[in-house]
Amino acid sequence: MKLYYEHPSVTGLPSTHHYMQLPREVIVGNGALSRIPEVVKRLNIKGPALIIAGQTSRQIAGNTVHKLLVEADLIVDMLLVEAATIRDVLRIEEAIADLKPKILFGVGGGTKIDAAKLSSAHQGIPFISVPTTLSHDGIASPLASVKGFGKPYSAMSQAPLAIIADTEVISLAPWRFAVSGCGDVISKFTAVRDWRLGHDEKGEYYGEYAASLALMSATLVEKSASEIQKGNEEGTRILLEALISCGVAMSIAGSSRPCSGSEHLFSHALNVVNPNGAMHGEQCGVGSILMTYLWGQNWRKVRDTLKKLGAPTTAAEMGVKDREVVKALELARTIRPDRHTVLQKLNMDYSACEKAAKATEVIS
Ligand SMILES: [Zn+2]
Repeated sequence: MKLYYEHPSVTGLPSTHHYMQLPREVIVGNGALSRIPEVVKRLNIKGPALIIAGQTSRQIAGNTVHKLLVEADLIVDMLLVEAATIRDVLRIEEAIADLKPKILFGVGGGTKIDAAKLSSAHQGIPFISVPTTLSHDGIASPLASVKGFGKPYSAMSQAPLAIIADTEVISLAPWRFAVSGCGDVISKFTAVRDWRLGHDEKGEYYGEYAASLALMSATLVEKSASEIQKGNEEGTRILLEALISCGVAMSIAGSSRPCSGSEHLFSHALNVVNPNGAMHGEQCGVGSILMTYLWGQNWRKVRDTLKKLGAPTTAAEMGVKDREVVKALELARTIRPDRHTVLQKLNMDYSACEKAAKATEVIS
């Protein structure tokens, strides 16, 4: 089986060349779905389209996308997937080989978009992201996380050709998804600090522009914490734009570096220790409290912001055991040895991890 971790067009790029693949159109707002026909027209998409959705996302957005594309004179098929496993990706790839669509629409939360992103990249066609939840920054990033590739973190795939985010559709999702998205954005403070460390200590590429964009998103969500609350349309929009900016930051960096550091390694490790823990962004938020402490910075500020946003700040609130948090913190540095972070620098044993988790009141 062929497994691409990079967009096929950039394999073999010399290290002196920096490649950025950015979305061409982004439409955000109440009723944005209705803009799909004109987006398709502007992008000059003339052939058949394939929509990837789940049971829920089909009802809240997929059927509407289907109707709008038919009205735009396109031949349209819809394929329902329930997860983003290797099997789902291959099933979509078979459908692409069969139906020969010119464009793929990923309609749903993180998993449907990731499955659409990866399968379209493998098959060499573009995809359009139509998020129905705000749970993490994958809605706009060029990276995809798919179960079964043997890596618990996301890999380079391709950036969406367009992002069409309808705040009315997104407001139908349980608020917990948005809370997870907030945690994912807040985690950029530590991610950028770790990226800088990778640059200073390992000579890794570091891009000031991508780093600033990720930090700006985190600062904006932090400042707007009292607005980003259920039912507040302006708050939803701030979060949505912050998540899209994070995705763009990764496109500019050409990697997940500006948006994923030690706090993400902690979240990935927690998934290994307890696969039934909290949502991605919720775990990254708690990871961010821990890593801010390890960096010797103001972890209370991170914790208080997360509290204000309604995000979990303790093991109990994430629905995991205290010892699972400690184990995950210990395991985190081994998840991705090539990613230099504060965890590699400190190289902590179990008791040092327990001390950090207690000091930050993540465990009692
Ligand atoms: Zn994330």
